[in-house]
Amino acid sequence: MTDRPDYPKAFAQHGVHFHSRNGTQAVGDCPFCGREKHYFVNVENHRWDCKKCGKRGGFATFLQEVYAASKRERKHFIELATDRGLKPESIIAAGVRYFPASDRFLFPVCYRDGSNRLYDLRHYKRGGKVMTTASCQAGLWRWELLDGQPREVWIAEGEWDAIALLEAGVKGEVLAVPGASTWKSDWAPLLSECTVHLCYDNDPAGVDGAYRTYRALNGVASKIDVIR
Ligand SMILES: [Zn+2]
Repeated sequence: MTDRPDYPKAFAQHGVHFHSRNGTQAVGDCPFCGREKHYFVNVENHRWDCKKCGKRGGFATFLQEVYAASKRERKHFIELATDRGLKPESIIAAGVRYFPASDRFLFPVCYRDGSNRLYDLRHYKRGGKVMTTASCQAGLWRWELLDGQPREVWIAEGEWDAIALLEAGVKGEVLAVPGASTWKSDWAPLLSECTVHLCYDNDPAGVDGAYRTYRALNGVASKIDVIR
């Protein structure tokens, strides 16, 4: 019996199927051109390259390439939309994409410097949960829309509820926390002087989460209301 080699999880989450490991190099199938056993990832520094299509780079470039290669055609979103009770158009308009190599839907979380570089690429397989990419930090989905101005902001518990709010056409910016219980102290200043609507689920985790976020924003936001 041999030990299972340790493969870079973030790459596996985004569609790299690994076959073997040779020292620091994990060898797998390229998620971009599909060529088998020509895709190499250094497990220590996450630099990667495909010997077939020639794509290469570091981890940040990997996330960018995955999102750039992902699909936005309506046909990929029809079953998902039915699952979630949303319109395919609403999901696509929110920036969600489908990446065939991983069979996952992608939610880009960008850095807040206006560069469109990816801070995280949240991913979802039908029937599962939306997950933060391994080795990325959790962020607020769509937080790049906050620009320091006092705005009306809706904070939903999760991306699907955020898309439902967008579909309903609420006035203001719509953001999502990555889970009911997740709130980081350095997120509060982003909402300084904003009018904030907290839209958490009406279950124990949602009520606790809304209360935690309320306390974090109390005295920072100009007005907070909890939607039930
Ligand atoms: Zn390739």
